[in-house]
Amino acid sequence: MHKELSHEEALFFLNRFHGHIGPYVVLGYRAGLIANRILGDDPFAKRAHTMTGSKTPISCFTDGIQLGSCCTLGKGNITVSDEGEPRVRFELADGSKGIEVCLTDEAKARIAAANGWDDADRLGRRMLTDPEEELFMLTHHTPSG
Ligand SMILES: [Zn+2]
Repeated sequence: MHKELSHEEALFFLNRFHGHIGPYVVLGYRAGLIANRILGDDPFAKRAHTMTGSKTPISCFTDGIQLGSCCTLGKGNITVSDEGEPRVRFELADGSKGIEVCLTDEAKARIAAANGWDDADRLGRRMLTDPEEELFMLTHHTPSG
């Protein structure tokens, strides 16, 4: 469908779209890429439900998800609930397959240790390329019938 962005392109678009680089927007972007890999990258064939609420910085996760997965507010295939958690569930539009993505304790601890905008910017750039298994926990959902 669409080719994956280079790291430089991803940082450019995340910064243009979101206004800054930080761990949550970068991790949301990568969560979106995971969804594309597992559920396919057709932006009309899946939907996302994030649990970030609308309070920053955790809600920054939801912006990254939109760029990564192309599930967007304008297409109506992303919803947000108010748990205040960096966690997202992606499903195929027909509900036949889904995954839930959340952060590892290690990733959460690294984010908690970042201090100020410069630290957050550096951490976000690093997390763009850190190994996926250090950052994310995935749960696969099978159809409930
Ligand atoms: Zn942000």
